[in-house]
Amino acid sequence: MRGIAKSLLLTGVALVTMAAAPQASETYTEADFAHVAKFDAHVHANVDDPRFLEVARRDGFELLSINVDYPDFPPLAEQAKIAESMRAADPLRFHFATTFGMEGFGTPEWTARAEHSIDTALARGAVAVKVWKNIGMVAKDAGGERVFLDDPRFDDVMAHLEKRRIPLIAHQAEPKNCWLPLDQMTTENDRSYFRAHPEYYMYLHPEEPSYETLIAARDRFVARHPGLAIDGAHMGSLEWSVDELGHFLDAHPNAVVDLAARMSNLQVQSNADLEKVRGFFVKYQDRILYGTDLTDSPPDPAARAQNPPATDDFPREADAVWRADWRYLATPLSQRVDAIEADARGLNLPKPVIDKIYWQNARRFFHLKG
Ligand SMILES: [Zn+2]
Repeated sequence: MRGIAKSLLLTGVALVTMAAAPQASETYTEADFAHVAKFDAHVHANVDDPRFLEVARRDGFELLSINVDYPDFPPLAEQAKIAESMRAADPLRFHFATTFGMEGFGTPEWTARAEHSIDTALARGAVAVKVWKNIGMVAKDAGGERVFLDDPRFDDVMAHLEKRRIPLIAHQAEPKNCWLPLDQMTTENDRSYFRAHPEYYMYLHPEEPSYETLIAARDRFVARHPGLAIDGAHMGSLEWSVDELGHFLDAHPNAVVDLAARMSNLQVQSNADLEKVRGFFVKYQDRILYGTDLTDSPPDPAARAQNPPATDDFPREADAVWRADWRYLATPLSQRVDAIEADARGLNLPKPVIDKIYWQNARRFFHLKG
């Protein structure tokens, strides 16, 4: 800052130059990656793997592993055991979020059971609760009707979380590409995933709720619980437009979003208008959590679903994903992005913005101390 003031005295031209491109000392470099404190607020540890903790330690990351009621993941009880064991191995670095099952939703016992399972996990160290896209897309109540997140039968559980100041991580819907024809999808990774998984490709299932229906239910839910701290996973499924995401954040001051598995959607937008995406990060620097969706699973290629890792060398993949994202967010450098079949220039975000989205926001939002 002092440098800018001094230049101001010297010449107006210098000021103009600096306003257009931040000084090197105001941004991080690629070499700063490992020694800046960072937090990946969206990973899935599905194996008790000390190598995950090692690479996180080496690269300067704390982790939030999110347990999910997902058929391709191990059963919830096993996910919980893995999370507790990894947390015990490195309690300052490894954090986890719990979830609850939907069986019996709509019966009088369901609420008590869900609250009990949440409380048990909190007592064992969980710092948040996750709800998944199965609510809205799969789950049915005891009467066989589809359940949406704004259902009043969730109210007691949400009030319970609010009272205990526990944040909720909500993954609702899918990327908008899931409802578009293949040739209109904006990223290659979505195109190849949905081509290979017609059962999850909603464009082929017009009888299922539309993207707009699911997003509207989510928005009504967030508005219905203004005192609940909500983290919209995967850019709140508004990954296709930073303008739309900005409207969501403006309308819901209790919400933050994570970036997990949606960097390519941002890169499509920054390739079209870099200053716009950069401006989005600067404007919402207190509301964005860095996250990847890195998933350390038992070796079974068929069960990998949409998550990034694609080889057997998980630590190497984690390191590569983290470094690529750092290069994009923290530096002005270009890189090849296969998911969009193009190069993407980095956003070169200022240090204070990087420190918030990579560290401070997650620490604050999940009430982490020490
Ligand atoms: Zn995930």
